[in-house]
Amino acid sequence: MQLLLRSGGQRVAVDMERAGGQTLNVGEYSYRPTHMARKVRRLAAQMWGSDLAPGILEQRLTFEALDGGVGSSPWSDSGSFSPTSGSIVSLGRWDEDGSIGIALHELAHEMHMRSGGYDNSDGVLREALSLLAERESGLRRTFEREPYYTASNLISQLCELSNFARQSFAKRWDEIVTLSNDVGLSDLVNFYLDRSERLGLGRWLKRYSDNLELRDAILNRIAAVTLRYSLNYRRYFIERVVRCNSEITPDQLTYVFESITTLDRRYPNDDLEQIIAVCFAPHTRQRRRLLAFG
Ligand SMILES: [Zn+2]
Repeated sequence: MQLLLRSGGQRVAVDMERAGGQTLNVGEYSYRPTHMARKVRRLAAQMWGSDLAPGILEQRLTFEALDGGVGSSPWSDSGSFSPTSGSIVSLGRWDEDGSIGIALHELAHEMHMRSGGYDNSDGVLREALSLLAERESGLRRTFEREPYYTASNLISQLCELSNFARQSFAKRWDEIVTLSNDVGLSDLVNFYLDRSERLGLGRWLKRYSDNLELRDAILNRIAAVTLRYSLNYRRYFIERVVRCNSEITPDQLTYVFESITTLDRRYPNDDLEQIIAVCFAPHTRQRRRLLAFG
C-alpha cells in the first residue's frame, strides 16, 4: 500500500508498511500509516481469503494526502475506484478507522471486478457490495445521493434480518456478488425477510404454481414494487400476497402490483399500507368469514 503525499507540484510516495511509527496529519485528523496498512491487510484477508490475489494491496490501493488537508471540493468523494488504475483513498475526510473503511469499500469494487460481475452490474449492486465490506470494518455512513441511498437502505435491511446477518462474510458476499441489479437485491431482502419471519411467501408460491419460471417472474415483480419499501412495508405487502386466493391469475396479480405502484406515485402522502390493503382486498381471504363458516 502506497501513500502519496502531494504538496504544490511535488509528489512523494511512501510504502505504508515501512513507515515505522510515523504519524501524518491531514486536516483535522492524524493517521498512522503502518498501523492502517496492517489493519487493511488483516481485514481484507478475513473478508476475501485466498481470493485476495498477491499484488492487489501493493499495486492497486493507494492512499493520498494533499498538503493543507482536504484540497478539492467538499462534495468530492473520499475514495474512488477505476478498473484500469485501481483504488485511491483520500485522507482528510474521515478519521483513521473511517479511512480504513473507505479502503475496504474501494477494495470491494476491485474484488467485484475480479469476480467478473462488475461490468454487468448496475450502480446500486456495485455500491451495495462495497457498503457490505465497509460495514464489516465498522464504518456506517448515511447517503442522500443515488445509487448510494438505495444501496445503503437495501444492505441495512439485509443486515437486520437474522438469517442473513448471522452468515459469514464470505457467504453474504457470495450471495450478493451473483446478482446484477437493484431488483435482484430487493428480491434477496424479500427472500430473507420471508425466511427469517416465516411469512409463508415461498410456500404460497409453491402451492400457487408448479411453473418455476412463473414463480420467479412473480418474485421479480414483487421485488420491483417493493424496491424502495422499508422492511415494515415489505412485510405488510408479503402478508397480503400470501392471503390471496390461489384462484388469482398471474394477470390479476400483476394488475394488483401495478395499481399499488401507480397509486403510491399519484398519492405520495397517502398511507401506503392502506393503498396496499385496498388493492389486494378483492383477492384476499377474509379471515373472519372463514372462521364463521368453520
Ligand atoms: Zn463505491
